Amino acid sequence: MVVGAGLAGLVAAAQAYAAGRRVALLDQEPEASVGGQAHWSFGGLFLVNSPEQRRLGVRDSEELALADWHASAGFDRPEDALAKEWAAAYVNFAAGEKRAWLAALGVGLFPLVQWAERGGYGPDGHGNTVPRFHVVWGTGPALLAPFLAKLREGVDAGRVSFHFRHRATGLIKTAGRISGVRGELLESSAAGRGEKSSRHRAGDFKAAAAAVVVTTGGIGGNHESVRRQWPGGGAPETMLSGVPASVDGDFLPAVSQAGGNLINGDRMWHYPEGIHNHSPVWPRHGIRILPGPSALWLDAAGRMLPPPLFPGFDSLGALRHILTTGHAHSWFVLNRTIALKEFALSGSEQNPDLTGKDVRLLASRLRPGSDTPLQRFLDRGVDFLQAKTPAGLAGKMNDLTGAGLIDATELERLVRARDRQFSSGLGKDPQLAAIRAARRFATDKIMRVAPPHRLTDPRHGPLLAVRLSVLTRKSLGGLHTDLQSRVLDAAGQPVPGLFAAGEAAGFGGGGIHGYRALEGTFLGGCLFSGRSAGRAAALAV
Ligand SMILES: Cc1cc2nc3c(=O)[nH]c(=O)nc-3n(C[C@H](O)[C@H](O)[C@H](O)COP(=O)(O)OP(=O)(O)OC[C@H]3O[C@@H](n4cnc5c(N)ncnc54)[C@H](O)[C@@H]3O)c2cc1C
Repeated sequence: MVVGAGLAGLVAAAQAYAAGRRVALLDQEPEASVGGQAHWSFGGLFLVNSPEQRRLGVRDSEELALADWHASAGFDRPEDALAKEWAAAYVNFAAGEKRAWLAALGVGLFPLVQWAERGGYGPDGHGNTVPRFHVVWGTGPALLAPFLAKLREGVDAGRVSFHFRHRATGLIKTAGRISGVRGELLESSAAGRGEKSSRHRAGDFKAAAAAVVVTTGGIGGNHESVRRQWPGGGAPETMLSGVPASVDGDFLPAVSQAGGNLINGDRMWHYPEGIHNHSPVWPRHGIRILPGPSALWLDAAGRMLPPPLFPGFDSLGALRHILTTGHAHSWFVLNRTIALKEFALSGSEQNPDLTGKDVRLLASRLRPGSDTPLQRFLDRGVDFLQAKTPAGLAGKMNDLTGAGLIDATELERLVRARDRQFSSGLGKDPQLAAIRAARRFATDKIMRVAPPHRLTDPRHGPLLAVRLSVLTRKSLGGLHTDLQSRVLDAAGQPVPGLFAAGEAAGFGGGGIHGYRALEGTFLGGCLFSGRSAGRAAALAV
């Protein structure tokens, strides 16, 4: 029995079915939301030394990737021992079998590999030394498709069953072994994909199973839990949600009651670059900007974030820095040229060209005046402000927040100082140096980094300010699991009959990422841990 029909659950179930077992999948949401978060995802996958990288002249290796992983994860707890083993196994998977396995399932990749989390703290600091973010051709839905197809085959064969509107609330134990799941039958719901569905209880259920795999995801849609687990307290007062409300984490305490050890709850991966969705699907629906490096990044009071906190370099570092100001919002200040070239929006629905595998639409992205999702944000997004001068922009920034924190003279001074650095042809500004270096990489030059120019150059205007909010997304901690995805108890012993995968298991080991992620590692973590859970559960029954 698999609890949670997101990517990790579907992979685990497909694996167990392929191993000849009967599988039941439970999910609290209606069928419309099958696939969970992965449907909404951008489909970015961390791969190491791939043909796509090599074609772009990137020289990567498993050794380099593992060094980057450790430098970013910063593992520093005794309970990280298994997470380190998971990390080594996962990087090996990403450098080896992963691409061929996905290709055999019909999952293709967009050829232009992207460079997320660039770091900037020196050779042994956080970040990807080289670009590793491979976008699935067809984004999240195309990654889900082969697993759904396999399971539908199982449904037709009478060996797989889906049970939607089944909300698990507890595990049943018989003679020390997990022997089933109990929970609530929720009333039927017409909620569309990703929309919040009712929690009205229409009845109860109890279901027996020889093995139970928990794949109920993280806690990002449950701001109360996010606040409670926020490291050192001090979560922002207002946050956007980068995930549907179904990512509520409500089942995890029940698993803990049945003996499963929950670890690293304070490690979370939220983003400082959230914007309000102009057409929200779920409560507080925010979209993350995946930024290129050229915008000035200012805190709420208009001060530049210090190097290397340029857009796209260090998500957690930027988040921590912004929150030290006592305000949760920050600003990108840029111009229209930079926005059009450098702002990617995370999510399948924000990338209809890649999601729909539409090459013509993809090409139109770079044509000015196209009706792109970004243009819709420029036209309708409440966070997007435009003006001809820095002083005009400062006025609008203050009007939007009502806080009067932006000093027009100071903003003008910052913008002019950046423009002087550009005009010098060389310059001492590390951000400009990083922009010029990025343009040596083909993907950046073609589609992610605008040629340096003066921010106030009217040919590239108007000037823009984008208000950024904290956006909740991933839980990095979760159920402590061994390499067979068996859930461990507080003494480190497997709880018989219980397995976990995906975000509910910290993507493996209760926290494969440690404190920081290299990106594209969440979907991949669901694939890897889901496969291992499905295999091990099949062997155990
Ligand atoms: C917009 C967006 C973009 C993203 N882009 C990327 C990307 O490019 N690359 C990347 O690596 N990652 C990305 N991610 C993250 C990635 O998609 C998720 O981490 C991953 O899909 C989580 O999968 P999961 O199966 O563990 O959990 P989920 O997808 O959350 O699935 C859990 C399922 O369990 C169900 N459930 C929960 N509780 C219960 C219960 N008590 N009883 C029954 N059912 C329950 C839920 O309804 C849900 O269907 C993105 C996420 C989003 C939202």
